[in-house]
Amino acid sequence: MAEEPAPESGSGSGSFSSAVNGGKSIEECQDMIRRSLRTPMVKFLREHLEKAGCVVGENFIKAVHCDKQISGGYVRGEGIVVCSNHMSIQDEVNQVVIHELIHAYDDCRAANLDWANCAHHACSEIRAGHLSGDCHYKRELLRGFTKIRGHEQDCVQRRVMKSVIANPYCSEAAAKDAMEAVWDVCYNDTQPFDRAP
Ligand SMILES: [Zn+2]
Repeated sequence: MAEEPAPESGSGSGSFSSAVNGGKSIEECQDMIRRSLRTPMVKFLREHLEKAGCVVGENFIKAVHCDKQISGGYVRGEGIVVCSNHMSIQDEVNQVVIHELIHAYDDCRAANLDWANCAHHACSEIRAGHLSGDCHYKRELLRGFTKIRGHEQDCVQRRVMKSVIANPYCSEAAAKDAMEAVWDVCYNDTQPFDRAP
């Protein structure tokens, strides 16, 4: 199981944080998920999941209310959830859906992926963070992180750590060691893309 930390407000004013404006209802979020299914990135990932033998049907991705401070997650055999109460704009929903589809793709293509293994989990988070565009500089600016040089890898590392530490099998030290051990291989593994989009 892979869970994503809730949208960050960073060091900025925090006015962008969805906690401030209360998020969306489950129905609104479900509509936003439907809209995300029409974006080229989501279509591309669903096609490749299907090619790898894993069909992602309409109800694979569900809007739910989350009590935890997470934006969404992927659970093997259950699918993807998007936390409606932590979403405020379409772009956030698209990002969660894309990020979780990369986890679903990793789970599909590797028969022996073990989410309890910190290195396996870290690898999928590195790929999902890098390939989803979670760390595009425009999104980082909205979070209040304004350092541009080297921002992309810093941002991916920060988000990988948050997700892997939330794994009950991974301490902070184990998460850091795992991330460093697999970084180069997993950051450069851009499947199913030819290169990072
Ligand atoms: Zn993730």
